[in-house]
Amino acid sequence: MKQRLVRAAPKIRKSMNTLFLISFLTAFFALSQIHVFARSSVIEEPFLSLETISKEAREAVSVRTLLYKGKYTRIWIYKDLMKKFSETSDKTMKAVFQSVEKKVIPALLETFSVTAEDAGIDKKHPVDIVLDDVYEKSKHLYRGYYSPSKLGDHTILIDLNLAESASVTNLKDPVLSTVYSLSHELTHVLFFQKKPDEEAWVNEGLADLMSFLLGRSLFGYDVYKVHSIDAYLRNPSRSLTSFDSWDPSGADYGKSFLYFIYLYDHFGGNDFLKALYQGSDTGLKGLQYALNTADGAQWIPAAIRSNASVYTHFSYALEVNDERLNRYRLFGFQSVLVPNQYQGDFDRAEVHDNPCGNLKPFQSAYVPIGPLISDQDALKTFTLSLEGTQQPLVAYRVKKNANGVISRIPLSALNGKPLSFKKDDFVLILNLGSEPSDYDLELTDTE
Ligand SMILES: [Zn+2]
Repeated sequence: MKQRLVRAAPKIRKSMNTLFLISFLTAFFALSQIHVFARSSVIEEPFLSLETISKEAREAVSVRTLLYKGKYTRIWIYKDLMKKFSETSDKTMKAVFQSVEKKVIPALLETFSVTAEDAGIDKKHPVDIVLDDVYEKSKHLYRGYYSPSKLGDHTILIDLNLAESASVTNLKDPVLSTVYSLSHELTHVLFFQKKPDEEAWVNEGLADLMSFLLGRSLFGYDVYKVHSIDAYLRNPSRSLTSFDSWDPSGADYGKSFLYFIYLYDHFGGNDFLKALYQGSDTGLKGLQYALNTADGAQWIPAAIRSNASVYTHFSYALEVNDERLNRYRLFGFQSVLVPNQYQGDFDRAEVHDNPCGNLKPFQSAYVPIGPLISDQDALKTFTLSLEGTQQPLVAYRVKKNANGVISRIPLSALNGKPLSFKKDDFVLILNLGSEPSDYDLELTDTE
């Protein structure tokens, strides 16, 4: 069942000094699709405006009326909206408030194995959720917004969607939709208290993963951003560790979500999340700490738990998505169905006998061999040579044999030797270093 939703809060991190976190959604995102399974309904709704947030947010937060007060949160409304805040709105927001207080925040604290007090979210330091309704003021729309530098690190803005022109009538379940957005933003709040310098790709991947997991465990629906995932899978050659919040396709949100669900699926589930929260490092270092220490990941050999190895296996999974093809089940996804739909359906760069380009750190290139082979079933032999500007550049021939096993042959071991390919085979080139690298793959037809 496909449904539309609009949704949560992307976020941008600037430098370490500015502590700038923001969650935004452009008007393009208003058309985003989210997949919802099970008994969920959903959801089309507009978002807070960019202009309003940047120019008026402080005022919006200061001129507000308290609606509900709980153990962890206070919900406020921007004062001039009170007259539009109907009985229905009140009922909706009360249900949201109760879900957040009784389910979402306790579940987040349990996942990260921290008390409310230690997490910095308790009665003395409640999270202020401020309701705004600014749809008509801009084409740049938000659903949820968190910016420690602009609003303080305990404040979230949420769009109320009261305007008549907003698609309220399509909003089949405003409670679930708002809780979904808040789960994302509350994850940001919790993580910011612990790791204020965390990198954007980690923050966003984790926040989307948590809204997905909480939706599933607390409310019985699976919801994720199909639009963003689709955008990423169309062009999976994006650096894992860079993040462009402003890209209207949302591809980097799809990328981070898929990477985090992959980590969750394979490297210890909640143990992994707990270790990630408990460690003090950020970015790839923080992930490595969690990969090293998560209890549920220890059955996989340490060498396979390195960031480089995990990213390499993830890159295979994107292409082949079949867990059976690896003894540690690392060539596929478990929790989300989306990648299956895209198997073998990537938009790839045009192929010729000399693919070359530049790869950022933790970026990969898929080079399909098929277009160079005219006969569907024929084996064709090539000699491959790969040159790059730096050492950690690696390439593999990836192919499924008759038994469904993938053979991975590092080309470094094969430079200059003939290698046979079938139509479905491809070469995966990865930059596992810390600097950008040019690559130059030469395919010489030896027949
Ligand atoms: Zn976000």
